[in-house]
Amino acid sequence: MSSVAAPNIDTIVSLAKRRGFVFPSSEVYGGLGSAWDYGPLGVELCNNVKQSWWRWLVYERDDIEGIDSSIILNRLVWKYSGHEATFNDWLVDCRKCKGRFRADKIIDNKCPSCGASDWTEARPFNTMLQTKLGAVADDDPAALAYLRPETAQGIFINFLNVQTTMRRKLPFGIAQVGKSFRNEVTPGNFILRTREFEQMEMEYFVSPADEHWKLVDYWVEQYLEWFGSLGLDRDNLYLYEVPEEERAHYSKRTVDIMYRYFPEREKPWEELMGIAWRTDFDLSAHSKNKLDADGKRINPDSTEDLSYFDEPTKQRFYPHVIEPAAGVNRTVLAVLMDAYSEKTNDKGETRVILKLSPQLAPIKAAILPLAKNKPEIVGMAKAIKRSLQPVLRAVYDDTGGIGKLYARQDEIGTPFCITVDHQSLEDEAVTVRDRDTWEQDRIKVSDLAEHLQKRLKPYPVPESI
Ligand code: ATP
Repeated sequence: MSSVAAPNIDTIVSLAKRRGFVFPSSEVYGGLGSAWDYGPLGVELCNNVKQSWWRWLVYERDDIEGIDSSIILNRLVWKYSGHEATFNDWLVDCRKCKGRFRADKIIDNKCPSCGASDWTEARPFNTMLQTKLGAVADDDPAALAYLRPETAQGIFINFLNVQTTMRRKLPFGIAQVGKSFRNEVTPGNFILRTREFEQMEMEYFVSPADEHWKLVDYWVEQYLEWFGSLGLDRDNLYLYEVPEEERAHYSKRTVDIMYRYFPEREKPWEELMGIAWRTDFDLSAHSKNKLDADGKRINPDSTEDLSYFDEPTKQRFYPHVIEPAAGVNRTVLAVLMDAYSEKTNDKGETRVILKLSPQLAPIKAAILPLAKNKPEIVGMAKAIKRSLQPVLRAVYDDTGGIGKLYARQDEIGTPFCITVDHQSLEDEAVTVRDRDTWEQDRIKVSDLAEHLQKRLKPYPVPESI
């Protein structure tokens, strides 16, 4: 079994800060527990992950639409989705050190702070983040609103809007990427668990007569392939069939894809994403016509019925949903951990190389002049940078000797360094150095863009069901 290249998350925390991927947030005021800001390279990496996901699902398949719904929704959405009543973590307090923890995260019944095993009874704590809308009195209950704890509900309440405007027939999906918020009891482990994070969720609507169990397997396979295309080693992913007692109330089956975030620990796995069969729970719950077992409307507040009329069978029903829900931040962390590697050069110096998949690399090519005091070389290098920029993200850098410049680009995962030297002025050619092999090719400037694009490998495209 291969191991994660990064020995632990701390290695990534320090690389991320040193090189401008992720900074601790609000540092000038001493920080804010477990909040992080994405720097110039981090924002590119996040964007590349999201773009890869969006292209893969929305552009390259024929059965998925995208939306972008509000973060703050009518409070009734969270009442009928069940979040107000059940979106709880179970809290326990350590009687010895007064530390407060999530009951399900306690290992061997021992307090993670002081080691004692004297706990209070577990009690529920709703993790939706609250806010108030409008210029209202502090205690006006009508002003209460929540920052969404998942993007999914924005999709469910727009199901009919999307289905009718896009003239969709089942099966089809709706994808959304955006921020979600949870008042986590114990955030931590860098960007793995934060109170503000980003999700990539897709709700795949199918008939109640479909084989939902198999559809979960289908989406698990699809995501394993996608993670593979991002460079994650299959050995560092593990499938967890979530038992009933751990599943959300609406789910009849959930499979979590876990990543080996803690290679140094005996229990190295933590959730990267989940794929859940949410049944017809959500669309029914938001519908005005759905009746309970006693014939009473389950939702007297809704003004719409989110059912679907199936032309071939002439039946009206509430579609079932298969939901793959992934986190941008957890994907970014897994990608960074998997890409981390070290290599020793001829002089015996150890260098960090971030072997990011080229599609994710924040910068695709760095243009480096071999002599920065030679105006012709500098001019040519800058012109090459400008000519590449419309097709791929390129930077120009002359702030050090060539060895240092190469090392810096290796450490941030730039697949290609392009060196402009004295000979380039004669032969209109440059040296292209490969990040992973350190091999160098001489390429004509006129062929450069095409050469690089060919080597920035494409990624597998899944077929629609
Ligand atoms: P966990 O059990 O780790 O708290 P969850 O099962 O509550 O996660 P889901 O509700 O399934 O998470 O959310 C889908 C995805 O959103 C997760 O797999 C994860 O990638 C991401 N996610 C959820 N909570 C957080 C968080 N606090 N910080 C970062 N990402 C998160």
